[in-house]
Amino acid sequence: MFSSDTYQAIDTGKAVVQPLEQPSWQQKNITVAILRLDRIHPIISGNKWFKLKYYLQQAQKLNKKGIVTFGGAWSNHLVAAAYACKLEGLEAVGIVRGEAPAAYAQTLLDAQEYGMQLQFISRENYTDQQPELWQQLYPHHLVVPQGGEGALGVQGAADILPLATDYLSYTHLACAVGTGTMMAGIINASKAHQQVIGISSLKLQNASDNSIITFIGRHTQKSNFYIHTGYHFGGYARKNQELINSMNTVFKQHHLPTDFVYTGKLLYGVNDMIAKGEIPKGSKLLLIHSGGLQGNRSLPAGTLIF
Ligand SMILES: *Cc1c(COP(=O)(O)O)cnc(C)c1O
Repeated sequence: MFSSDTYQAIDTGKAVVQPLEQPSWQQKNITVAILRLDRIHPIISGNKWFKLKYYLQQAQKLNKKGIVTFGGAWSNHLVAAAYACKLEGLEAVGIVRGEAPAAYAQTLLDAQEYGMQLQFISRENYTDQQPELWQQLYPHHLVVPQGGEGALGVQGAADILPLATDYLSYTHLACAVGTGTMMAGIINASKAHQQVIGISSLKLQNASDNSIITFIGRHTQKSNFYIHTGYHFGGYARKNQELINSMNTVFKQHHLPTDFVYTGKLLYGVNDMIAKGEIPKGSKLLLIHSGGLQGNRSLPAGTLIF
């Protein structure tokens, strides 16, 4: 269905499994590796391609002119959607959370450069997003939920795990969680002998009963998963010096760049869980690097060493 240009542009062969070695993990006979989805494309980074691709196919199947989708000023999803639509010859409309700023964030400038038409709405109106309303406003476009949250996003995310050809050999699979769409796809692709661990980048009030667990429950039949709610660092896109230091240390030790919204918290959380003995000795972990490095551009220069 996709044009050969898009297939050439997205290189899933670059999603290598990188072993991560650390003496404190080796002492416990725990091995860790990470699937580098951040490398598949410089702009359509990480999990966003997987969560978008079946929506774009759907738009083409329905003969839509393009898509309408949603995000914040530094949204990995918006910029990925803008570029993927450009490659596919689809129009892209981006509904951005918040009033139009005097100066656009670099992510929005990029999305606009790739042809996305931006429309700003107040935070109040954004939170009660009505898909039907947007569909009425844009009858010739497919409405794609924020972050590709929904059945087609989950279906695409299920294609992530098999990129690691040895994925069945791992006892644990760990990923960052925003909407839970990627995690639901990973759970669906996992086997019963594997435990899927999600590190929430959002502050969730209740660890065992929250909107993410409800969403995942609707999209999978399986129960071999667990969401850790203790590594949000104050909430979505919040950070502190400890997180920044950890990201710089991870880069020094493993030459692995992470982002402060998702993957930085994933690496911090996994390391902390191992240190606290929450991961059994002898475990074999595969982490998912879900991309999103462009978001680090919102940090003051010099914050990160990479
Ligand atoms: C969007 C994003 C996530 C969150 O994915 P969900 O499917 O919404 O849970 C995780 N990591 C990165 C880098 C992202 O950009």
